[in-house]
Amino acid sequence: MTGFATTFRHLFRKPITEEYPEYKRPLPARSRARIILTRDPDGGERCVACYLCSAVCPVSCISMQSAEDESGRRYAEWFRINFARCIYCGLCEEACPTCAIQLTPDFENCQRDILTLVFEKKDLLVDHQGKDKEYNFYKYAGVVTGVGKKGEHVKEDRPVNVKSNLP
Ligand code: SF4
Ligand code: SF4
Repeated sequence: MTGFATTFRHLFRKPITEEYPEYKRPLPARSRARIILTRDPDGGERCVACYLCSAVCPVSCISMQSAEDESGRRYAEWFRINFARCIYCGLCEEACPTCAIQLTPDFENCQRDILTLVFEKKDLLVDHQGKDKEYNFYKYAGVVTGVGKKGEHVKEDRPVNVKSNLP
C-alpha cells in the first residue's frame, strides 16, 4: 500500500526537468569520470612511475615508461590511458601511493573516433593538485631522518641485495 500511495502522490507532482547540456548538475568531487595526473603543491609531477595503477587496472588500459631525472627522482617518460577500455572503477586512484592519478567528475568524454580516446601524458597532466591539495609525496617518503641508516632502526631488517637473492 505504501508503494501505491507513493506512486499516487507522484502523479500530481510537477515534473522536474533538467535541460542538459544547458544545465549541468554539479557532481560530487568523488564522482568517477575522466582521469587526470596531478602535481605536488611545489609544481613537481606526483607520478613516480611505480606501475601500481597499471598493475591494478582490471582492463589493462594504463601503460607507461619509467625514467629518472638527474636528481634520481622517478617520473613517467610517457603515460597513456585508453579511455575506450576504462570502466572508471577507481582502482588506479586507490592504488596510487602519491595521489598522482585521480578521477574527476568530468564525464563528457565521448568521441566518435575511438582512437581519440587514447590520452597521452600531455592530455592527462594538469597544473593543480586535484582533490589532495596539501599532499606532497617527496616530503614524506625517502626523507633522511638523521636517526640512522636503512636497517639500523629497532627491529628493522638490513636492506636486501636483490642480486644475491637470484636463484
Ligand atoms: S578507473 Fe579502473 S579501468 Fe579506468 S584506468 Fe583506473 S583502474 Fe583502469
Ligand atoms: S599514477 Fe600513481 S600508481 Fe600510477 S605509476 Fe604514477 S605514482 Fe604509480
